[in-house]
Amino acid sequence: MGRPSRRALQALSVRGVELQGVGCQQAVGTVSPRAVLRYKQWVLEPDVEPDSEPVTYAMQCAVDEETSPASEDWVAPQDWVLEHCGKHPSHHTYREIITRPWRAWRRT
Ligand SMILES: [Zn+2]
Repeated sequence: MGRPSRRALQALSVRGVELQGVGCQQAVGTVSPRAVLRYKQWVLEPDVEPDSEPVTYAMQCAVDEETSPASEDWVAPQDWVLEHCGKHPSHHTYREIITRPWRAWRRT
């Protein structure tokens, strides 16, 4: 777990998804009766490291909430929808569920 490479950060800013936040006020010492407080900056970003979990897709029927198996491509979930339509001709609305790995790391 280190900081992402510069290349990863550039790719993220191109996609416009880099988020930054300041939080987690922490006491780092007690040199006086008052605690010394320092803000830590956290960065939240999609995990694009080679060992990250895969992005997966699934489809869910909005009528009965039955859900397709998750898949790393969207073809199988869409095929599942067509099959589901065949079995339930009155079910016309679906949700796409995308699971994307993210990571948070503390900027030093
Ligand atoms: Zn259904």
